[in-house]
Amino acid sequence: MPAARIDISIVAPVYNEEATLPVFYEALKKVLEGMALPYEIIFIDDGSGDGSVEIIRHLARKDPAVRYLLLSRNFGHQPAVMAGLDHCRGACAVIIDSDLQDPPEVIPALYEHYRRGFEVVNTRRARRRGENLFKRATARLFYALLAKITDFDIPLDAGDFKLIDRKIIDHLRQMPERHKYLRGQIAWLGFRQTTLEYERQPRHAGSSGYPLKKMIRLAWDGITAFSNFPLKVATWSGFLVSFLAFVIILYALYSKFILHETITGWTSLIVSSMFVGGIQLMSIGIIGEYIGRINSDVRRRPVYIISESNGE
Ligand code: UDP
Ligand code: MG
Repeated sequence: MPAARIDISIVAPVYNEEATLPVFYEALKKVLEGMALPYEIIFIDDGSGDGSVEIIRHLARKDPAVRYLLLSRNFGHQPAVMAGLDHCRGACAVIIDSDLQDPPEVIPALYEHYRRGFEVVNTRRARRRGENLFKRATARLFYALLAKITDFDIPLDAGDFKLIDRKIIDHLRQMPERHKYLRGQIAWLGFRQTTLEYERQPRHAGSSGYPLKKMIRLAWDGITAFSNFPLKVATWSGFLVSFLAFVIILYALYSKFILHETITGWTSLIVSSMFVGGIQLMSIGIIGEYIGRINSDVRRRPVYIISESNGE
């Protein structure tokens, strides 16, 4: 029997969201029922340590539209979303956080734009409520930098809350990189894209699974996946240091042979060798980041492992 047609797949990664999940599900369900289209909801549990899995299993038992994938451990938000995209069957998919920061009420508007012919409907956070100044400022800075150093349009200040067409899903699945940076990959793909504004809500409950460390990791992935800018920084600092060294050598020769004064001192030696050492280490580090990416792409390990799912 051919599978029934599904118009819209909801892809919702879950990591320790037991307090929010039932509320999120109810809100989502209400919106989807209002749209009167065949849909499926895919929860991807990213190795939660709380009661999220029990809640998901319970929802799947009572609602045939709910499917779930349990990952074998915490793989991170991007791999979790990718797992959902790999297994969704809809003609389009909406990627949405399950902590109610992305309001499900926006989905009909996303779908409306999709129906008008856009393959990608991005969302843009008009205001970020409940996020501190530091997170807002760093996010803004990062997107501005990324826009500067990449040569295609990454929508500013857009998260992963978006609707994408089946074509986009299929292309994403064929992109071989192991470090996923979906918002960048989707922007890179092109097609007709548009952006909707909405107000980002504060977290319903629980705490962000994106502490500073993970944010920096994601930012690095974004930069190294789409730009060789850091490598250029390494090259240019090499040139700059060589130039400075040249000037200082001229000065040293001048003072020895013309002024007949030798420059003495420990300070100048230590300062210059530490400066050069610092630049060298930084450049090696930058090269290392790129080699690390190559390394994990060469190993070709799966991006995530599924330990359990319902349905086929
Ligand atoms: N999430 C995940 N794996 C992780 C961290 C987060 O699947 O390792 C999920 C989380 O449950 C939520 C979404 O990804 O649905 C966004 O995470 P979070 O709210 O922690 O990020 P923030 O909104 O603070 O950027
Ligand atoms: Mg959140």
